Amino acid sequence: MKIYNTMSRTKEEFVPIEEGKVRMYVCGPTVYNLIHIGNARPMIFFDSVRRYFEYKGWKVNFVSNFTDVDDKIIKAANAEGVESSVISERYIEECKKDMAGMNVRPATTHPKATEEIGGMIEMIETLIEKGFAYEVNGTVYFRVRNFKEYGKLSGKNLDDLESGSRTLLVTGEDEKEDPMDFVLWKPKKEGEPFWESPWGQGRPGWHIECSVMSKKYLGEEIDIHGGGEDLIFPHHENEIAQSEAASGHAFSHYWMHNAFLNINNVKMSKSLGNFLLVRDISKQYDLSVLRFFMLSAHYRSPLNFSPELMEAAKNGLDRIHTAMVRLKDEAGKGLPGAESQQERAAREAFTYRFEEAMDDDFNTADAISVIFEMVKYANTLDPKETTAEGWDALRANLLQLADILGIEEPKEELLDADIEALIEERQAARKAKNYARADEIRNELAGKGILLEDTKEGVKWKRK
Ligand code: AMP
Ligand code: ZN
Repeated sequence: MKIYNTMSRTKEEFVPIEEGKVRMYVCGPTVYNLIHIGNARPMIFFDSVRRYFEYKGWKVNFVSNFTDVDDKIIKAANAEGVESSVISERYIEECKKDMAGMNVRPATTHPKATEEIGGMIEMIETLIEKGFAYEVNGTVYFRVRNFKEYGKLSGKNLDDLESGSRTLLVTGEDEKEDPMDFVLWKPKKEGEPFWESPWGQGRPGWHIECSVMSKKYLGEEIDIHGGGEDLIFPHHENEIAQSEAASGHAFSHYWMHNAFLNINNVKMSKSLGNFLLVRDISKQYDLSVLRFFMLSAHYRSPLNFSPELMEAAKNGLDRIHTAMVRLKDEAGKGLPGAESQQERAAREAFTYRFEEAMDDDFNTADAISVIFEMVKYANTLDPKETTAEGWDALRANLLQLADILGIEEPKEELLDADIEALIEERQAARKAKNYARADEIRNELAGKGILLEDTKEGVKWKRK
């Protein structure tokens, strides 16, 4: 399997740290608003990476954080006059609903920055001890000059950076030894959440959280670290500096970055205000269409959002769904006996080509083409002239490959009674303080388009 490594700027053969296991970390969203469809791109893509590894028999430990302490969260909290945890908890819940709608599986662990402050303080202390960090008036900075390999991921040169950052130097930062140094810990300001630390009350910088959460849940050395390409510099460069300075050895072996989702050929971002929320899309389309649209391009190519491309994605996905339903409905009608050699060979050829595409740096665009060819082939088959076993095998094979891309056989509508039974089970789970199961049920229902609302009169539900 080949992976394009941003560090070497080449496709490299994937060699894991531990045979049969993959440790991967993907930077998650800052939770101060509903996620936009740009944020959805890494979620969807890396979910398919994970699914493909699992399909190939690897055990994947997949960690993705929620950044729940940040200036933007504090600003949103102040605007509403609530604690910042009210904002972050709300948008974590909303994000999980969107993920379920896009058929993005929950990570093995979704750590939250605010629950990992102790680990951050420890790592900052180690960096100070080793001479890689220093404190001035309650702020701790990373001493970039001491990390000789700084710039190795982004290909930036220290001297160029230095002259650039000097002109950008803002007031209040002149206490730094060097303009390139970045913040590991900052002192509290009035009205902000804070934690006790050896440097006084304050809160961590953004970069340190990922170094610490990755280390805690995956170990000091990991296989894959991912995120959008905007994170290469400075976020990932700084993560490397912190983690490698603290541990004394390599941090992540492979760095993967998705290109941007654009709109009218301009990157979609909250700061530019040209974004569409996943929730907006869900009013018009099932979110499986959004997922299919995202995977129809290679992850390292920019993808331009347009209503025409969404319509094309919808039509494409419909074609696949129609074939899946036919394969289900016509099952068991075929000839007796074992799957013929010819039937098997056709099926295996599709599987081979699908894997070839995915083994080549997760080329989901080519993998989708193979699915379309498989669908076309299935549609030409006459169920009465195919062995029943061959028909079933083709169906199972198609479902298995499509599942890697997160495409599922259309579900039969949930009956009201089934929904109510699940809601009752959720209430019982909550009573028993089994919140994991309760959340699972809520997400399962959300995935089927059923929205729950907890009211004083009990739980109400509606179909989307
Ligand atoms: P943020 O909440 O801005 O930290 O972003 C969370 C994740 O979404 C990061 O991996 C970003 O790189 C990614 N991201 C943000 N905007 C876009 C976009 N327009 N296209 C693709 N990825 C994006
Ligand atoms: Zn990160």
